[in-house]
Amino acid sequence: MTEIRLHNTRTRKKEVFAPIDPDNVRMYVCGPTVYDRAHLGNARPVVVFDVLYRLLRHVYGPEHVTYVRNFTDVDDKINARATESGRPIAEITAETTQWFLDDMAALGALEPDEMPRATQYIPQMVAMIEKLIADGHAYEAEGHVLFAVDSYKDYGALSGRTVDDMIAGARVEVAPYKRNPMDFVLWKPSTDDLPGWDSPWGRGRPGWHIECSAMSYELLGASFDIHGGGNDLMFPHHENEIAQSCCAHPEGGFANVWLHNEMLQVEGKKMSKSLGNFFTVHDLLEQGVPGEVIRFVFLSTHYRKPMDWTEKKRQEAEATLRKWRSMTDGLYGGDVSAGVLSALADDLNTPGAVAELHRLAAVGDRITLKASAALLGLLTGELGGWEIDQGPEIDEQSKKLIIDRLLKRREARISKDFALADAIRDELEGVGVKVLDTADQNIAWEYSDDFDPAKLEALK
Ligand code: AMP
Ligand code: ZN
Repeated sequence: MTEIRLHNTRTRKKEVFAPIDPDNVRMYVCGPTVYDRAHLGNARPVVVFDVLYRLLRHVYGPEHVTYVRNFTDVDDKINARATESGRPIAEITAETTQWFLDDMAALGALEPDEMPRATQYIPQMVAMIEKLIADGHAYEAEGHVLFAVDSYKDYGALSGRTVDDMIAGARVEVAPYKRNPMDFVLWKPSTDDLPGWDSPWGRGRPGWHIECSAMSYELLGASFDIHGGGNDLMFPHHENEIAQSCCAHPEGGFANVWLHNEMLQVEGKKMSKSLGNFFTVHDLLEQGVPGEVIRFVFLSTHYRKPMDWTEKKRQEAEATLRKWRSMTDGLYGGDVSAGVLSALADDLNTPGAVAELHRLAAVGDRITLKASAALLGLLTGELGGWEIDQGPEIDEQSKKLIIDRLLKRREARISKDFALADAIRDELEGVGVKVLDTADQNIAWEYSDDFDPAKLEALK
């Protein structure tokens, strides 16, 4: 079996991944708050953890992996959106949830096995909070319930900070009813105009963090394998999830491996509304950028590095995928290349895997290219947005002749026999095959309108 190694935020090391139960490998990823279209940054964790999901399914078998990603459908940002727009909350969250699913499907992301919504798990959250109070980890104050961080000695261990550091560095909401300024809200009171549920502490609603603890416990148990999200969630969200879950369920260890993706930037700058470089996945799809192109650009940067979205990368990705799609059109079967698999198994080295795809394309191993790309969720056929000009109907024999010639040309270029390389190019151009040069010695061509397979075959 392929050995997978993952960088664990908790230990700050790359570790061999050993699932608790190889028959049911369990992963939880924090999902979106549903009040608006997903921006491009929100799509990064979706694509990163989709690749991990595909890898786990490949290694352990599709029926032996459970992937849970939640929808946060109770949140003050949602309430604010409802007030501004005069629309009911349920309508906003239902619409936004569907937008998210549509946009992520266009990026080739598989749907997780479970997609729980916070509002469906209120009783479980209340039960967990009651247990935390009973065990001395939480207290009620002025209609709020707060988690007492002093009751959990490992608070801050994930991000490697002490409580004092956190108080100094964080924007802590100081409230007179908090025993320690770092104590965070598990439950808060709701006024009549806000969503609320009856509870032992009056009508109210949950704080943000408790939902992931309650839903992961319900769906994956007190111990599971992988927990993921963007690195902006490490503190406070993930610290708080750990504190809640480990204190309410000391019999379990919560998540063994923590994975965090770095943030997305646009043309070297943080994506923000004020800089005018803010856009949604839907905006790009509407502009005709195929979802697969977005996915490819994401995969070309390792998930633990900041990822820069640029127009240049978009264009290059589109050109590459066009080439690969026309090379692999109509091919089925084949095996995932060992190089792609070992790159992915090495802490999701997607740029390494993409480099291997380029190599497969360059040597003309089209069938392995297609099979390996599928493990990355690429060249899979049904991705949205492509209007590929496949050119004239090309038979396999022609493609093979062209690839053979281009491989010879590539060899010639590598050994600096430019006269031969140019001669091969001119010959191909004479029969309507336009040779494209790529920086990485990849093989690429386009059919001109006057492409003539008979003339191609007649070439010696
Ligand atoms: P939110 O809806 O803000 O809670 O974010 C949903 C997910 O998107 C979380 O996993 C965030 O870490 C992630 N996310 C938000 N902004 C970015 C960004 N610029 N780059 C990468 N991931 C992001
Ligand atoms: Zn979460």
